[in-house]
Amino acid sequence: MTDVKTAIVTGSNSGIGLGIARSLAMEGHNVVLNSYTDNKDDHALAESISKAAGNKTIYISADLSKGDQSRSLVEKAAEEFGTVDILINNAGIQHVAPIEDFPADKWDAIIAINLSSAFHTTAAALPMMKKSGWGRIINIASAHGLTASPFKSAYIAAKHGIVGLSKTTALEMAEAKMNATCNAICPGYVLTPLVEGQIEDQMKAHKMSREEVLDKVMLTRQPTREFATVDQLGGTAVFLCSDNASQITGTTISIDGGWTAL
Ligand code: NAD
Repeated sequence: MTDVKTAIVTGSNSGIGLGIARSLAMEGHNVVLNSYTDNKDDHALAESISKAAGNKTIYISADLSKGDQSRSLVEKAAEEFGTVDILINNAGIQHVAPIEDFPADKWDAIIAINLSSAFHTTAAALPMMKKSGWGRIINIASAHGLTASPFKSAYIAAKHGIVGLSKTTALEMAEAKMNATCNAICPGYVLTPLVEGQIEDQMKAHKMSREEVLDKVMLTRQPTREFATVDQLGGTAVFLCSDNASQITGTTISIDGGWTAL
């Protein structure tokens, strides 16, 4: 650990975002947790991370379906810590339906939360990174940022979009010679509490063992037939924030058990 940086992880009161936030905290960085709720539990989670990591972690509520709240999340973090050095755009939602039945409000919400929020947070954070002369932006895309599946039109459009946004952000950072990088991490299936619940449901529905559900139902597109873990995502984010990764920019890093090799 060289330098203490300030990191925002959007959508980080559960799942992948929480895993990445914990990994950055354990490196000693200041961390801002976020979601749209503002419960006692959200702030208690931040306190428990601070205690375990010996860093400063705070929780800032912002509804990232709204552009102004996405920008003010970055501004509030900078008010607290002086600047924002690391921005992890992770918040995301999903809806599954054929295009002709896909509710327009779900399309709008997915594009707003999974894609437009990253445009707004990036726009707010870039001037701070330019000023300090260092920055890292990591966008959590998906294997569905590189491939498609039926019935997930909005999610796939948003995830392909965020891969493109990552490339443009990287090129603008390079033009500005600002010692900053932007990349997209593209996970396949990751073992989050949400996915654990789905495994249980599938075991009951198909009367199958856990192993059978993983092999025959859930991980058919993941050749290793294993989930990625939130710790592996956290470790990759920590690496991308290191000096060794300073020439990795404008690209995608797949953590997908071979999904995109097929
Ligand atoms: P999750 O549901 O556990 O986490 C999503 C987070 O986003 C939560 O903290 C939620 O509160 C937050 N969020 C939702 N709407 C929000 C809003 N309007 N404003 C602010 N925060 C909001 O899901 P996850 O599996 O951890 O997913 C995290 C990211 O990883 C998503 O972008 C998802 O698309 C991506 N991803 C997940 C997987 C997987 O297998 N779990 C695979 C590939 C990509």
